[in-house]
Amino acid sequence: MLKRPLSPLPDHVYPPDPWRLVETRFSERFSGRAETIFAVGNGFIGMRGTFDEGRPALAPGTFVAGFHETWKILHAEEAYGLARTGQTIVNVPDATVVKLYVDDEPLFLPTARLTEYERVLDMRAGVLTRELTWATAGGKHVVVRSTRLVSLEHRHVAAIQYEVVLPEHSAPVVLFSEIVNRQDADSREFPAQEGVADPRLGTSLRERVLHEECRDVDGMRLLLGYRTAHSGMALGVGVEHLVETALSHRVEVDAAADRSKVVVSAEASPGVPLRLTKLITYQSSRAVPASELVERCTQTLDRVSGAGHAALVRGQREQLDGFWDRADVRIEADDEPERVQQAVRWNLFQVAQATWRAEGSGVAAKGLTGQAYEGHYFWDTEIYVLPFLAYTQPRIARNLLRFRHSMLPTARERARELNQRGALFAWRTINGEEASAYYQAGTAQYHINADIAYAVRRYAQVGGDDEFLLEVGAEILIDTARLWADLGFYDHRGRFHIHGVTGPDEYTTVVNDNAYTNLMARMNLTFAAWFVRELQDERPAEYRALTSETGLRESEVDAWVRAADAMHIPFDRRRGINPQDANFLEREVWDVQGTPPDRFPLLLHYHPLVIYRYQVIKQADIVLAMFLLGDEFSLETKRANFDYYDALTTGDSSLSACVQCVIAAEIGDHDRALEYFRYALLMDLADVAGNVSDGVHIAAAAGSWMAIVNGFGGVRDYEGRLSLDPRLPQTWRSLEFSLRFRDRQLRIRLSHDEERYTLEEGQPLDIRVRDDRHLLRSGEPLVLTPAGPLAPSS
Ligand code: BGC
Repeated sequence: MLKRPLSPLPDHVYPPDPWRLVETRFSERFSGRAETIFAVGNGFIGMRGTFDEGRPALAPGTFVAGFHETWKILHAEEAYGLARTGQTIVNVPDATVVKLYVDDEPLFLPTARLTEYERVLDMRAGVLTRELTWATAGGKHVVVRSTRLVSLEHRHVAAIQYEVVLPEHSAPVVLFSEIVNRQDADSREFPAQEGVADPRLGTSLRERVLHEECRDVDGMRLLLGYRTAHSGMALGVGVEHLVETALSHRVEVDAAADRSKVVVSAEASPGVPLRLTKLITYQSSRAVPASELVERCTQTLDRVSGAGHAALVRGQREQLDGFWDRADVRIEADDEPERVQQAVRWNLFQVAQATWRAEGSGVAAKGLTGQAYEGHYFWDTEIYVLPFLAYTQPRIARNLLRFRHSMLPTARERARELNQRGALFAWRTINGEEASAYYQAGTAQYHINADIAYAVRRYAQVGGDDEFLLEVGAEILIDTARLWADLGFYDHRGRFHIHGVTGPDEYTTVVNDNAYTNLMARMNLTFAAWFVRELQDERPAEYRALTSETGLRESEVDAWVRAADAMHIPFDRRRGINPQDANFLEREVWDVQGTPPDRFPLLLHYHPLVIYRYQVIKQADIVLAMFLLGDEFSLETKRANFDYYDALTTGDSSLSACVQCVIAAEIGDHDRALEYFRYALLMDLADVAGNVSDGVHIAAAAGSWMAIVNGFGGVRDYEGRLSLDPRLPQTWRSLEFSLRFRDRQLRIRLSHDEERYTLEEGQPLDIRVRDDRHLLRSGEPLVLTPAGPLAPSS
C-alpha cells in the first residue's frame, strides 16, 4: 500500500467538469502545478501553462520534440564504457508572451484587483482560454480574454490570441508581444534551487546554448534562426502578428537581440476591443542550416495566416473529435462522478498532447511539459504509452516504433561497446546514445530491449500489421534476441541465466536472474524465433532478403529457442512466489509501513547502498511481468506474488500504481484495486508524487487507461487473441470504452445488469469473455450477464 495521503482536490483548483479543467482563482501555491496541468502541446511543440504576461512563472518552458543540447558527462571516477554524452531538451525561445499596459500600469499577476478570473483547458476543443477582469489602480475595468493552442492539425504551429476591452472607460493600451530566449537567461533569472539534489530534474546548462544565426523582420513578422553550441541542431522560430481592432493604433517592431518585440499601442474607447493574434511556428533539424528553417517558417506562416485563427480552432476540434471517438472512456462512478470523468479525460488528453504529432521523435517521460528527466525517452513509451495507442490510435503507435527502429544503428554500436552481439538500446536518450550516467539504475536495465520487442509484438498483433513486422519489427527482434542469447550463459545443469542486470525496480540493482528480465527475454527470444521461422516458411524470398541484410544464420535461431527453453525463472517453492532475483529473498526486509511518510521517495533520503541492501521496491517489477505475460502465471502464484511484493512496494515511481491496480483487480482485491486506481488517476491532478510542477507523468497518464481497461475491463491479448474478464467495481454504475483491434472497431459497455459488446466496424471477430468464446458480428451486439462486481470481500 502507498503511504502518501490522497486528500480531495479543493474545488477552486479544479471544480468537477467532465470535459474541462477549470481554475477559478489564481493561487500562488498552485501556480507551479498549474504550469504543468495547463500545458498545451501536440507531440512536436509543447508550451507550459505560464501566463501570457510571462510572469509569475516558476519554470516557464516551450519545447520542441528532439531539439536538444549535448554536453560532456564528467564522471568523478572514470570507467570503460560509461555514458559520455549528456543530452538535455532545450527550452526554446518563448513566443507566448504578451504584456499588457493600461494607463501605463502593467497587468502583473497576482493582483488583488482581479474581480473575475477563470482559466479553462477544454479537452474537446484543445484550447486553453483565460478570461479575467482587472481593475486598474485608477479604477478602470479591463476585460482580458486570451486563448492558446498548439495545433494538432499543423505540426509546426501554435497560436495565441489576446483581446483587451475596457467596457466603460477610455485609456491608452499597449501590448508588448515578445519572443524571449529563456534557455540562455535561465541561469541568470532562475537560479538553481538549494537543498538535496533531485536526480530526476534536468541539468541546467550554464553556457549559452542557442547561437543566433539569422534574424529577419517582415512587417509584423519576426523570424529567428539558431544553432545549438554543441549538438549542432538548428532551430527556426517565426511569429506573425495580426491586429484586429476598430481603434486607432500604432505598431512598432523592435528586433533587438534575445528579446524581439512587437509593440501595439492604441487609444481604447469604451467597449471597443483590441485583439492581437500571434501565429507561431517552430522548425528544427539536425541536417539543414537555420536559414533554411527560417524559410520554412515563412512558408508555414503564409499558409496559416491565410487561413486565419478561426481555421486553426476548427481544425483543432476536428482532430480531437477523431481522437475522442476512439479514445474516450466513460465511467459513471457513485462518488464524484464528474471528477473521475474529468481526471480520466485529462490523462488521456495528456497522452494525445504528448504523442499526436510525434512523427520522427520519441515521447519524453514528461512529454513536452517540462525539462525534468532532461526530456529523455525511456521504456515508458513502449510499456506504458504504447498499449493505449495501439488500441486507439495505431498510426501513432506505429510512428513511435519506427522512431525506435531508427535508433538501431546506435544500439548496435552500444552493444559492441558493452562486449555484446546484437543491439542494446539506450536506457535513456534523445538522440539514441546512452545518456544514463548512473549505470546501476540505467544502462544495467537491459530489459529495455525486451520491452521494445514486446511493444513490436503487441502493436503487430493488435494492429494485425504484418508488413510492419517485416519492414520495422524484424530487425529489432533479431538484434534484441541476439543480445539476450549472447548475454546469458548455461550453468552446469543446462539452465540459461542472465546475470548482472537491473530490472524495472530501481531500488535493487545489478542482480542475477531478475525474474522480469528473464521472462521478458524469453518472450523476446521466442517471438523472434517464431517470426523468422514463419517468414522462412511463408515468404521465402523476404526471408532470404532479411538473412542477407542481417547476416542471420539458422543456427542462431536454434540457439534462441534453446536459450528460451532453458531460461531460468527464479521460483521459491516454500513461499509459492517468484523471487525478484536470485538473491532477493536473502536480503533484510525494509519496514515500509514503519517508515515516516516524509522519508519518501527513499531515493531522496537514503544512500543507494542503504536502499539496495534491503527488500524494498520502487515500482512494480514481478507484478508488471504478471500483467504483461499474465498467461505464464497461475492465479495462485499471482495472488502470492502480489501479496508479497505489495508490502514492499513504496510506489516511489509513478509507473507503479497503474500496474498494481491491474493485478489487484485480476486477483479480486477490490480495495487495493480501487486505491491504486485513484493514485494512478490522480497522480498529477492531486500531485501524488509531489513533483507535478516538473511536468506531467506521461507513463502514469497512459497507465490510467491500462488500470481501467486492463484492470476493470479485464482486457488481455495473449497470443494476439482478444479476451475480456470484466470486473466492474461495485461503486461504479458503468464503464464504457472502445478498442481498435485488427481493423475492427469495438465498443464495450459494462454495467451491473448487462455487458454489451458491439462490433461497430469490420469483419466478424472471435473474442473470449471469461471462459466462453463468441463470434462478434457487426450489427449484432453481444449482450451477457455480468459475473458479479468487484466487491469488498467482507
Ligand atoms: C522510473 C523508471 C522510469 C523513469 C522515467 C523512474 O523513476 O523508475 O522506470 O522509466 O522514472 O519515467
